[in-house]
Amino acid sequence: MAQYDPNNIFAKILRGELPSYKVYEDEATFVFMDIMPRSDGHMLVIPKTPCRNLLDASAEQLAAVMATAQKMSHVAMRAFDAQGVTVQQFNEAEGGQEVFHLHFHILPRRGGDTVRPPG
Ligand code: C5P
Repeated sequence: MAQYDPNNIFAKILRGELPSYKVYEDEATFVFMDIMPRSDGHMLVIPKTPCRNLLDASAEQLAAVMATAQKMSHVAMRAFDAQGVTVQQFNEAEGGQEVFHLHFHILPRRGGDTVRPPG
């Protein structure tokens, strides 16, 4: 597996070098709106520390990111008027990953909708 690239887009967002629409932040995680939402209220949950994807994540990073993903799922239900939530995560280009900093997609869902495909 390739090394973590500190100049990936999400690392730049974390350093404030690129803008983002921040939803939530704590000591270990950061949440912002996806720039190309695939459902209304599509959010991304990322760890603040370097991590390429699930394959090199530490137990601490996973625990923090999953706790925030659960919080954001509740936010999706309440603030984004969802009736359900899809959580997605991709690993390496062959697995559908485009940005190489660990992230979980939080996709608020409503009756009869479809999640638009990536890309
Ligand atoms: O496929 P992967 O899970 O890596 O998708 C990366 C996601 O990051 C895409 O949903 C894309 O819209 C999002 N993105 C973003 N802001 C950027 C660049 C990408 O929200 N500046």
